[in-house]
Amino acid sequence: AKSSGRGRVRYFNNAMRKKLKRQADIENDLQHGIKNDEFELYFQPIFTLNQPHIVSFEALVRWHHPKAGLVSPDDFIPIAEHTGQIIDLDLHLLHVAAAQLQQWRRAGNPTIRITVNVSSRHFASLDFVDFMRSLYIKYQLPNGTLCLEITESGLIENLTLATRIIHGLAPLGVKLYLDDFGTGYSALGYLHQLPIHTLKIDKSFIDKLTNKENPLVDAILSLAESLKLNVVAEGIENPKQWALLKRKGCQLGQGYLVSKPLPAQKAMALLIKHTEV
Ligand code: C2E
Ligand code: CA
Ligand code: CA
Ligand code: CA
Repeated sequence: AKSSGRGRVRYFNNAMRKKLKRQADIENDLQHGIKNDEFELYFQPIFTLNQPHIVSFEALVRWHHPKAGLVSPDDFIPIAEHTGQIIDLDLHLLHVAAAQLQQWRRAGNPTIRITVNVSSRHFASLDFVDFMRSLYIKYQLPNGTLCLEITESGLIENLTLATRIIHGLAPLGVKLYLDDFGTGYSALGYLHQLPIHTLKIDKSFIDKLTNKENPLVDAILSLAESLKLNVVAEGIENPKQWALLKRKGCQLGQGYLVSKPLPAQKAMALLIKHTEV
């Protein structure tokens, strides 16, 4: 028993060492990746469940790693969060999103809007307000065209400062979308306190809608209604979910049923098609 225990320890150490090595590699590569412009934003439409009509795009990062190929965010965002590199990465991607927005606007799509995922770490310093203001100026963005998605966890840690930052962003029309809603703390008290614009119901709740009703979805929808918040249902994959959500009064949705996240050019083509219909 003793030797097998040691074996397990050795195995664990090996697995651990591999994991740490991988994390260290990614940490190094992230640094280069930002410098070498290896990151691309894909765009997934957010649409009204009635028409359907595209109202905005969510920007989702993809990494063209020189050796590993296309790397998905779930494989490096958590590490970047851990090392703190997420700050630089997010600021870089906000520039990329703002530049894309400016280009689309110049190409004749004046109503287009983008939401960008950012770490809640940004909501710990008022510098972020200045950064966003400088972006709006540099890329000549009309108020409210570049908005942010955040998850609830980090916000709650420093509610007072987060609230000041969100208020600081308000003159730019920057709206806050609360991501993965229902999966985090869900300490509802703060919802009342924070000037949140939209709740995004996590995909895990929408998944379960296919075969039967999900009382949690009803609860989130009525909560949003009483707090006067907009709602986006994430991860709509089939017409049943769509119909059910529409019937329940959910106004906005997102998911593979309408479109996967697309490279900028394809996203624009989709938008033009939807506008012509
Ligand atoms: P998220 O913000 O919750 O994004 C939604 C994820 O669900 C995306 O995965 C999207 O491609 C996927 N998705 C959307 N509709 C469907 C559907 O109908 N079915 C299925 N199966 N999946 C769907 P993705 O692009 O892999 O992104 C994963 C997560 O990585 C994001 O979750 C977000 O938390 C994070 N992330 C992505 N881009 C960025 C970024 O630029 N900055 C930061 N800080 N985080 C990012
Ligand atoms: Ca998101
Ligand atoms: Ca989400
Ligand atoms: Ca998520």
